[in-house]
Amino acid sequence: MTLKGKTAVVTGSNSGIGLGIVKALAAAGADVVLNSFTDRDEDHALAESIAKEHGVTARYIAADMSKGDDCRALVAKAGACDILVNNAGIQHVAPIDEFPVDKWNAIIAINLSSAFHTTAVALPMMRKAGWGRVVNISSAHGLTASPFKSAYIAAKHGIVGLSKTTALETAGQGITCNAICPGYVLTPLVEAQIPDQMKTHNMGREEVIKKVMLERQPSREFATVEQLGGTTVFLCSDAAAQITGTTISVDGGWTAM
Ligand code: NAD
Repeated sequence: MTLKGKTAVVTGSNSGIGLGIVKALAAAGADVVLNSFTDRDEDHALAESIAKEHGVTARYIAADMSKGDDCRALVAKAGACDILVNNAGIQHVAPIDEFPVDKWNAIIAINLSSAFHTTAVALPMMRKAGWGRVVNISSAHGLTASPFKSAYIAAKHGIVGLSKTTALETAGQGITCNAICPGYVLTPLVEAQIPDQMKTHNMGREEVIKKVMLERQPSREFATVEQLGGTTVFLCSDAAAQITGTTISVDGGWTAM
């Protein structure tokens, strides 16, 4: 599988799942554009290290995915966008009647509206090239709900709907759009929560992972960023050319229950 000659833009990719996806796409030969809202030396150094490791072009472009103009500018500055991965996301947990309005607005902007803006700029580029892949990172929470995560769940269900509409508007044009729905993924952020959870529940690492954190994930195993990267590369392959407008769950059986 080679993605040589393709340019991939991955939003929110200086850590976690986004970074895992960037690495997998670069390993498959794609030139990559990394993004987050920060503009630190280490962000640019990360892109340089990926370029060196995989022999591809890797750039870091700072853009705040809570701002529509920044989202559009990211894709425009990339100059080419054969593969667009809308991954940037944040979370806030509170009951609906206490949910801070600014948090609601930020989650809808970053987790949902950003994908509308980036896709709007990317599709004309993809149509011109006669080939394109849009991969939206939704969640098991794009298909099911939990209490206290109203904004996140609304946004993640929303991105599944946006993926379907994007697929219909691009069908037969060499372009596909799908949503990946991960369950619990072991990212640095999740890893950092383990010691606190161990203390709170007075349990060892394995027990807290299996009984508390992965309570809803029947495999009782985290998905990994490498698996999310592999799923994204698959969606970019010829084998996936007729897979469009659908969701792929990477959730250890969560949504089977
Ligand atoms: P993470 O916090 O490690 O990564 C989020 C990325 O988004 C970071 O690179 C961060 O810098 C970036 N980001 C945040 N706000 C931004 C903004 N305003 N502008 C640009 N970039 C911004 O978290 P993650 O777990 O890797 O999450 C990545 C995606 O996967 C999110 O959409 C998340 O909802 C989804 N997801 C995660 C899990 C999980 O268990 N970790 C499960 C399902 C879905």
